[in-house]
Amino acid sequence: MSELDTDIMYLKGVGPKRADLLKKELGVSTLGELIRLYPFRYMDRSSIQPIASVSQSLAYIQVLGKVVSRTLYGPSSSLLDTSGERIHWGAAKRLSVIVEDDSGRMEMVFFKAVKWNYERLVPGQSFIFFGKPSEFNGRWNIVHPEVDVPQEGSMAQGVLTGVYPSTEKLKNAGITGKVMCRLQSAALARCLPEISESLPDYVLGELGLCSLSYALKNIHFPADSYALEKATRRLKFEELFLLQLSLLKQKYIRSRADKGIAMPKVGPDFNACYNALPYRLTGAQQRVIKEIRADLMSGHQMNRLLQGDVGSGKTMVAVLSCLLAIGNGYQTCIMAPTEVLAQQHYSNIQKYLAPTGVKCALLTGSTGAKARREIFEGLAGGQIGLIVGTHALLEDKVIFKNLGLAVIDEQHRFGVDQRAKLWSKNTLPPHVLVMTATPIPRTLAMTVYGDLDVSVIDEMPPGRKPVRTTLHTPNRMPAVYKFMREEIAKGRQVFVVYPMIYENEKLDIQNLELGYDEIVKAFPFPPYKCAIVHGQQTSEVKNFNMEAFAAGRANILVSTTVIEVGVDVPNASVMVIMSAERFGLSQLHQLRGRVGRGAASSHCILIRDYKCSKEAIQRLELMCSTENGFEIAEEDMKMRGPGDLEGTQQSGLPISLNIASLAKDGQILSEARAYAQKVLDEDPTLDSPKNARLLHELRKEKYQIKDYSRIS
Ligand code: ADP
Ligand code: MG
Repeated sequence: MSELDTDIMYLKGVGPKRADLLKKELGVSTLGELIRLYPFRYMDRSSIQPIASVSQSLAYIQVLGKVVSRTLYGPSSSLLDTSGERIHWGAAKRLSVIVEDDSGRMEMVFFKAVKWNYERLVPGQSFIFFGKPSEFNGRWNIVHPEVDVPQEGSMAQGVLTGVYPSTEKLKNAGITGKVMCRLQSAALARCLPEISESLPDYVLGELGLCSLSYALKNIHFPADSYALEKATRRLKFEELFLLQLSLLKQKYIRSRADKGIAMPKVGPDFNACYNALPYRLTGAQQRVIKEIRADLMSGHQMNRLLQGDVGSGKTMVAVLSCLLAIGNGYQTCIMAPTEVLAQQHYSNIQKYLAPTGVKCALLTGSTGAKARREIFEGLAGGQIGLIVGTHALLEDKVIFKNLGLAVIDEQHRFGVDQRAKLWSKNTLPPHVLVMTATPIPRTLAMTVYGDLDVSVIDEMPPGRKPVRTTLHTPNRMPAVYKFMREEIAKGRQVFVVYPMIYENEKLDIQNLELGYDEIVKAFPFPPYKCAIVHGQQTSEVKNFNMEAFAAGRANILVSTTVIEVGVDVPNASVMVIMSAERFGLSQLHQLRGRVGRGAASSHCILIRDYKCSKEAIQRLELMCSTENGFEIAEEDMKMRGPGDLEGTQQSGLPISLNIASLAKDGQILSEARAYAQKVLDEDPTLDSPKNARLLHELRKEKYQIKDYSRIS
């Protein structure tokens, strides 16, 4: 057995109990896995700052301080008696530790792991504290600093010491940072002689990357910052490169294996619609339609993701794509996530189709039995060329004569299994076009949809008015109401949106209803009419209220985020968002896209709670300064991490990354993708001897990636 596969239990200093814990807490069970657990940060012993130099301008600080005193606080900041034998830990809410160095004193504050920190931070002993400084009552403190024991003569040769992921349980079991370093050192000593290079020599040479064993050694024990940089770059590149290689290889294999319906013709309906368009397509729309046409002609099945900001004109692209398929004798469908949206699509699309001979129908959950029967007949007989609908389209009873193209709008709202059903609707798989208005950062799209083709509409139709976005606190509400009255007097309509606060639908609705009462008080009937929409209403009530607003019968629509998806009310010119700090940036952007669709100048008014972190305010200020959805999405991802991005939770990242970050390593990812493409262009199956190492790596479980096109 190789050292890499050796159970971690047999490493000096581990044993069965600690091995169990390492496995549970960190998912590490072999030596090979241990050495692939990298430090997430490095302590630079050369850069310890004197306490007196701490200032707000430092995002993070590291100080070496001797503990002067410890104080425990109970509920409501009452002092906890620590003089007796036993401390009542259940009552301990906060621990304050005063530390000093030659230059001054500061406070370390703990709200969690109070007992553990109290017991180890013994007065008279010195520790390294790392964290974000903040000022409170004129004194500097760090809340929940990372605490390390200064390591003199540790095995680290240089000044940089790795800090490993850890948990309280691990620390309690004695696996401190220092011990972890020792374990890594022992594991490396055993494994390094066995490490075989994972990338071909020509790749290392062309890109100037260091070897794997150099990288592993220096990621744990950097000789200096230059060595650390080389090691980091190599490991990040390797991870992203193999990932992209795997995704692109899949795409290649699929494009060879999957026959698709060839659609060489354009047909009269496309031309009739195109020539009657009330506007010129934007350059971006034209480009995307060309891309789709090339896919449809190719004889391979299309799997294309179409990204475009709210209002960028995706519907038109969808309709023209459908007309291409129809021109070749096939049927098409457009699936929307909600009934309201399906209806809206349907009425718009009917207008576009007027100059053509195409029959269009709408199928939703509330389509009556008789209409339903007729639709089923029209689909089975082939008379209906384009059907718009909701999930109802997925029912088994819906049978097409020959479905050639399925368009899915706002795909995040659909579950993976539901999408899979579309595949069974035809013998040859239909072409699939997925449209989303959630701008996914390029780096994420390359990964989540790495094997799909991505088109982007990055240009807005002319005439769209910018939305003026402003940020206020609740004391400005009277002024906001006044402004709303002025807009309503001009014949405009207003959205007021409340967030989900309680993660409990009942309480959220209560909160929303309280807000609604206030609005109704400020805007009494007559002359004002307010409507309310939320997730707990029946779809009948919801549709009724939504339509009342869409048709202009209500001046104000109070709602949770149900309006987020695609509803088009061109006459709405004001969007008020309450507790705006509780929304994600991408979500705010989506909401804002609901206004600015008509001729009026439009406004988005963000109301934030008084208590708001600095970061939250910064995020909201970004909303005020840009309307570029991609910029906002990138920023959102940087601040929150990709896992939190709306949409990615459902689809999930195809793999978990060990060292690279999609949010921060976009540059390396682009390089890795381009290089992977180049390697595959030369050797699509990676069968040539010089790529043997790559083929070997791709067989590893980590790179067995779910094929997203199969389920989209
Ligand atoms: P989304 O991408 O959000 O689905 P829509 O397709 O609903 O956007 O288009 C938004 C609005 O812009 C619609 O009212 C549509 O008629 C209009 N529109 C689309 N394309 C153009 C264009 N090229 N020029 C002018 N208006 C357009
Ligand atoms: Mg749309």
